[in-house]
Amino acid sequence: MSTEIKKIGVFTSGGDSPGMNAAIRSVVRTCAYMKIECVGIYRGYEGMIEGDFKPMDARSVNNIINKGGTILKSARSLEFRTPEGRAKAYENLKKESIDAFVVIGGDGSFTGAMIFNQEYNFPVIGIPGTIDNDIYGTTYTVGFDTALNTVVEVIDKIRDTASSHNRLFFVEVMGRDVGHIALNAGVGAGAEEILIPEENLGLDRLLESLKRSKQSGKSSSIVVVAEGDKTGKNVFELKEYVEEHIPIYDVRVSVLGHMQRGGSPSCFDRVLASRMGVKAVEALLEGKTSLMVGIQDNKLTLTPLIKAIKGHTKIDKELIRVSDIMST
Ligand code: ATP
Repeated sequence: MSTEIKKIGVFTSGGDSPGMNAAIRSVVRTCAYMKIECVGIYRGYEGMIEGDFKPMDARSVNNIINKGGTILKSARSLEFRTPEGRAKAYENLKKESIDAFVVIGGDGSFTGAMIFNQEYNFPVIGIPGTIDNDIYGTTYTVGFDTALNTVVEVIDKIRDTASSHNRLFFVEVMGRDVGHIALNAGVGAGAEEILIPEENLGLDRLLESLKRSKQSGKSSSIVVVAEGDKTGKNVFELKEYVEEHIPIYDVRVSVLGHMQRGGSPSCFDRVLASRMGVKAVEALLEGKTSLMVGIQDNKLTLTPLIKAIKGHTKIDKELIRVSDIMST
């Protein structure tokens, strides 16, 4: 174990996700366990540039494992994208004697960390924190499981009202570029159809499927739509389109929005975040850098940040097939 690292900074960056607090807690407690200092950096790179730091001991993270959001706040920093901004950040870290940092965030946050590491040879490790599950090198990101549970719970409620009125609901969920939330929550909530960015289902197939389900006597239908689905129509346009072509349907729309990011993290996300926090600190103390902690086959892994940033996650084809079969 390298003895060079005596103080580690930790921060959350980009969009928040449930479980970020559990990850912060884990990094802070692991530092305490390893008898090294830990400093919380507020508002991501923004706070790093402004020197918004706070020493954190094991007790400073009491009672946060169950809380959504992030106690360290998150932000997007334009200034960190400039060499001048990063120079200020470096000066502040040095002034505070911070030797390395753990960044909890998405691919943008990892890009910033990687560039910073290249410019200043500063040790950095990433923990994937995003509800979208769109990071290469890990089967799960912190927050994804909670977001799925939130979406499924809401769709269950929508189904109650949909079936009472024989309605069709289009439910829009997050996912501009990837359909992991839509596909998993759609299968979990028993959706009729799932529209995702990775597959072009085509409007004809959607109409056919909805007609079939009406004929087969289904009392209600739920169609889950990822924000970036490939039909070329948003949920409101889809509603109009279906009403025009199958007038028998009474169609409603529900856009779930930011509620998907909030809430108390699921047990899965808490455990995942706790494991990843330990691994991140251990990796830094072993002299490793510019890597992201991930989980694959239930084993913690380390993937170069460059790969995590550049790689693409693949949609689960088997789950698409399951969804097709279930909507029979
Ligand atoms: P999510 O997309 O899940 O919300 P993210 O980490 O991808 O999370 P971004 O807004 O893309 O969120 O990035 C967070 C911050 O990382 C940016 O505000 C910026 O400060 C920093 N960052 C992103 N890209 C770069 C870059 N190319 N160079 C330097 N810093 C960057």
